Amino acid sequence: MSAIDLAAVRADTPACRDRVFLDSAGSSLPPRQVVDEVVGHLRREAEVGGYRAAAERQDDLDQGYAHVADLLGCLPDEVAFTDSASRSWLAALDAIPLGPGDRVLTTEAEYGGNAIPLLTLARRVGATVEAVPSDADGALDVDALRGMLDERVKLLSLVHVPTNGGLVNPVTEAAAAVHEAGALVLLDACQSLGQLPIPAGADIVTGTGRKWLRGPRGTGVLAVRRAALDRLRPRLVDLRGGFWESLDEVRLHDDARVFELWEFGVAERLGLIAAVRYALDLGLDRIAAAVGERADRLRAGLAAISGVEVRDLGSRRCGLVSFTVEGTAAERVRDALLARDITVTVSRVSSTRYDMTRRGLAQVVRASPHYFVSPEQIDQAVAAVAALERDRRPDPL
Ligand SMILES: *Cc1c(COP(=O)(O)O)cnc(C)c1O
Repeated sequence: MSAIDLAAVRADTPACRDRVFLDSAGSSLPPRQVVDEVVGHLRREAEVGGYRAAAERQDDLDQGYAHVADLLGCLPDEVAFTDSASRSWLAALDAIPLGPGDRVLTTEAEYGGNAIPLLTLARRVGATVEAVPSDADGALDVDALRGMLDERVKLLSLVHVPTNGGLVNPVTEAAAAVHEAGALVLLDACQSLGQLPIPAGADIVTGTGRKWLRGPRGTGVLAVRRAALDRLRPRLVDLRGGFWESLDEVRLHDDARVFELWEFGVAERLGLIAAVRYALDLGLDRIAAAVGERADRLRAGLAAISGVEVRDLGSRRCGLVSFTVEGTAAERVRDALLARDITVTVSRVSSTRYDMTRRGLAQVVRASPHYFVSPEQIDQAVAAVAALERDRRPDPL
């Protein structure tokens, strides 16, 4: 496997030259191919109106399903476009029949934006939500999962990569266990889509455009496997997902299209499709290797600074690097780095309450280098954190 051509991807990303951008887990820098697509379409809408502009691009919009299917390892009619990963996830959850006494299993990596609707729904219908314990390394413990399964379990909500660190959860093994028990697996691939190949096994997969895929904000995808669709009851359906066939009869799409709504940002959709194609052209294995190298270099550099603790869990890791600096709040670290044009973010307990509570953490600094960050820039970020730590210490006598 040849490596990614760093000079070429950096040339496609002019902003990465002037700053050290370490927030692809938040909202990445899009390549110029994506920006050109979005801006170009907005200009075309201003010239001929939105309907005609969209009609001119109908083939590309249609082709988008096949490109996303390539990325997710599914069929084109198993793909729906949405306006965010959360929208995808909420639409899927809403369609899963749950009743009194049903059990939903989740992981300690669960995302706040999933836990809130899960706990709300469980309370409404009389179901329970239980977090499966993690293994010694912090990933989902598949044996513990097996031990918790019974016929009342209807769903495993599985986060592939948590929002607050580099851990990668075992999807295929977990899905096999859950399927034996007859339940569904809803995979939140928000932090892996565009960063790692998506493993097979889940019934439903959700992802966003703005993070590792480097697409526009306000875009998301949802994949629903054919076999799972029969078990879902979509309720939030408009005239994209259904047909008004006679005065009192409606019919719903019998594929993932049932989850789409009529209106969407066409420019953003085209931008997302361009981002998917860009990732496919580079190759997900090559992207994963490049991102992994950057993250390993960053982790090793940070771990060598006294007072800095790398907080990532898991034996298998990816491009999110979380750390704390002794005696300095995560926000202060972020702001001090920003003053040097190094972009990182803060991940708080409210986003991953099971995990952070268990580990007694209120917040961590999250640095997420994509393949377009050069190794020299990683070293620059490490040196900046080391300088913060030095400045904080009293001078020796
Ligand atoms: C960011 C994130 C989401 C939500 O993505 P949106 O684009 O805001 O809908 C879901 N899950 C995880 C793990 C995330 O990090």
